[in-house]
Amino acid sequence: MSAATRIRKLGFRRWYERQLIEAHASLVTAFLTAIVIIVCLDQFHWREGGVKPLAMLVLMVAGIALCQKTLTAYFKTLFHAEHFASQAVCGKCKTYGALEVQSCAAPGTAERDDWLTVRCRKCGHGWTIAADAAKPALDKARL
Ligand SMILES: [Zn+2]
Repeated sequence: MSAATRIRKLGFRRWYERQLIEAHASLVTAFLTAIVIIVCLDQFHWREGGVKPLAMLVLMVAGIALCQKTLTAYFKTLFHAEHFASQAVCGKCKTYGALEVQSCAAPGTAERDDWLTVRCRKCGHGWTIAADAAKPALDKARL
């Protein structure tokens, strides 16, 4: 489910809150994985016989992969949420996050999930939010 669809379903503030929770859960996972990697590195000795050195090595490699993946997820989720949050301020009354999704497309375009046409709940001003960071938001007043 795209961000536009989830914002439409949950509302911006609830969606943003969940994005932050999800991002920070990834950060905590990365931190705990880093601790596992450090402990395994400390306990790793080739001279010990048996399966233990191999198990430690497998655990370290898996930990490094998981740590890299969760750190990437943390930054991706956080930057994505901040990208939307930076466009969630009403241009007319400067209210933050009190928006109502009108459609998942820019005005005059086909329905897509990379744009959100929104309206301020407080004053009714409309604008678009670009889901893609490369596209600037469009102010409805300029259209
Ligand atoms: Zn407003």
